[in-house]
Amino acid sequence: PVFADLGLSEPIMRAIAEMGYEHPTPIQARAIPVVLERRDVLGVAQTGTGKTASFTLPMLERLAGSRARARMPRSLILEPTRELALQVAENLALYGKHLRLNHALLIGGESMADQRAVLNQGVDILIATPGRLMDLFDRGGLLLNQTGILVIDEADRMLDMGFIPDIQRIVSLLPSQRQTLLFSATMAPEIRTLADQFLHHPEEITV
Ligand code: AMP
Repeated sequence: PVFADLGLSEPIMRAIAEMGYEHPTPIQARAIPVVLERRDVLGVAQTGTGKTASFTLPMLERLAGSRARARMPRSLILEPTRELALQVAENLALYGKHLRLNHALLIGGESMADQRAVLNQGVDILIATPGRLMDLFDRGGLLLNQTGILVIDEADRMLDMGFIPDIQRIVSLLPSQRQTLLFSATMAPEIRTLADQFLHHPEEITV
């Protein structure tokens, strides 16, 4: 497979070339066209397979061309830990460098006031840990009814860390007409149950 066949536009193709990526990884080759078609994805893939780019690249592509309004993120990436959230943000900065889109992090350890200020500026892609996101939501810092793309990354770790009730609540605040991408390293029965709850006719991709 080649990146040129996946449906990504020039600013993203240029960023990929600058990263030195020559070929898409298997999860990228399979997931990117499906995400661009606005379909849901259930991805079973470990870290190290190129999973992050498999959702960030088509997400950037889908969002390019318009901008967020204050306090209404257009897309949300949930990560179980601060470290993973930071890694995703670094990836977005690189892949999105030729686009006029922004992203912000909502993770513990940062000042609430700063995070509120950033949300007020309008955020295209919000990367958050579930607890911190609910905290800010409960304080009225953001609205989730314009968030049309949701990524639940590392769902098996979310489960181990007890984040599922938070995620249920977050999903209940999003529009029902949204695109949902769920990634997990394993397909435990509990993950299957979550997928049945949150995804609509997903394309299942196991690598
Ligand atoms: P991930 O599985 O998303 O954590 O990615 C693992 C590593 O692979 C990261 O360092 C990426 O920068 C790198 N990577 C992702 N996609 C590609 C690709 N198509 N070609 C070469 N390296 C890649």
